[in-house]
Amino acid sequence: MKYLSEFRDIKAIQKYIERIKIILNGQKISLMEVCGTHTMAISRYGIRSIVPENLRLISGPGCPVCVTPNYYIDRAVALAKEEDIIVATFGDMLRVPGSLSSLELVKIKGGDVRIVYSTMDALKIAENNPSKNVVFLGIGFETTAPTIAASIKEAKNKNIKNYFVLCAHKVMPPAMKALVANEKIGIDGFICPGHVSTIIGSNPYKFIPESYNKACVIAGFEPVDIVISIEMLIKQVIKGKPEVEIQYKRVVKPDGNTFALKTMYEVFEPCDSEWRGIGVIEGSGLKIKKDYSDFDAEENFEVEVETVRENKECICGLVLQGLKYPYECKLFRKLCTPENPVGACMVSSEGTCAAYFKYSDM
Ligand code: SF4
Repeated sequence: MKYLSEFRDIKAIQKYIERIKIILNGQKISLMEVCGTHTMAISRYGIRSIVPENLRLISGPGCPVCVTPNYYIDRAVALAKEEDIIVATFGDMLRVPGSLSSLELVKIKGGDVRIVYSTMDALKIAENNPSKNVVFLGIGFETTAPTIAASIKEAKNKNIKNYFVLCAHKVMPPAMKALVANEKIGIDGFICPGHVSTIIGSNPYKFIPESYNKACVIAGFEPVDIVISIEMLIKQVIKGKPEVEIQYKRVVKPDGNTFALKTMYEVFEPCDSEWRGIGVIEGSGLKIKKDYSDFDAEENFEVEVETVRENKECICGLVLQGLKYPYECKLFRKLCTPENPVGACMVSSEGTCAAYFKYSDM
C-alpha cells in the first residue's frame, strides 16, 4: 500500500473483518491498545462497532496527560502562581483539572502560562526572559522524552541557567507488564503503540510473549493498519504461538531509534513512577540524572502545593486499566464533557473518555 486512500479503503476493511470473524470462530479474545492515537483511531473509524462481539477491544493507559497524577498538576499549578516563573507546556495540559485548580484557571487569574509547540520554543522563552525562570512540563512517553532531553542538553551547552523541566515522563513496557499481570483485565494481546515503538523498537516487548504468553503486534494508525494488526494478533492467540510482530514496518524497526534512545538516557534514568489510577509501577518513569539536576524543577523550586485530592466520582483510573468503559461512569456525557471535563481522560485529545464522547462509541 502506498496511498492514504488504500489505508482507508472500506472494502479492504470489510475483507479483514470477515477474515477476523472466520479465524475467531466464536472464540472470546480481548485485545488492549496502549496508545492514545490508537484509541482515537479505533473510535473515529468505528472499528469497535464492526468487529465481532466476541472480540473485546479495550483501551489502556495510552494518553500521557491522562496517566499523570493529580499531584503533578497541583505542583505545576503552584509553580505557575509564582511571580518569577513562566510555565511552558504543550496545549493539552492546560485544562487538566488538578485537586483545586488548573493551569487554565491560573492563567486567567494572571499567571504566566504559555503554550509551546516544541521544547525548543520553551528554551527560546527562557533565553528571551533572563529575569524569569521557565519551567517546561515534561510529560509523555518515550516519544516525547528524547526531545525534552535534547532541550536540557541544549540548555547546558548554551549555559542557559533559567530553564527547568518538571519531569513526569513514563515508559511503556513496565506499565504493560503491570497490565498483563492483572488477571482481572484478562488481556490476550496488545496492539502495541506505534509512536513509542518508533523510538524503542520491538525488542522491549519480547517479555510479553516469553513470560506471559500473550500476543503483540506494533500497529500503524490507519483503519486498514488496525484491522490487519487485529488479524495478526488473533492468529497468534488462536495458534497459541505468541510473539512480537511489526505491522507498522514502514516506520518501526526492531532496534528503534538508537540516536533518540541515546539522547534520552544521557539525560534521564529509570525510576519508579505513579500512574493515575494504577499506582506506582516499578521502573516505569524517567527522572533527570544528577549531572543535569541544575535543570530539574523538582530539585530547584520549593512550592506550597494545595491539598491533593482526586474527584471521587471520576473513574479515570479504572478506564485507564480497561476495567471500565467511559459510559459506565455516571458523570459521562452528563456532568463530564470535553467543554466541562471532570477528569483527565475527558480533557486530552487522546483521552479514552474524550474519544468515546466525540465519536459516540457505544
Ligand atoms: S467521564 Fe469524566 S468523570 Fe467519568 S471517568 Fe471519564 S473523565 Fe472521569
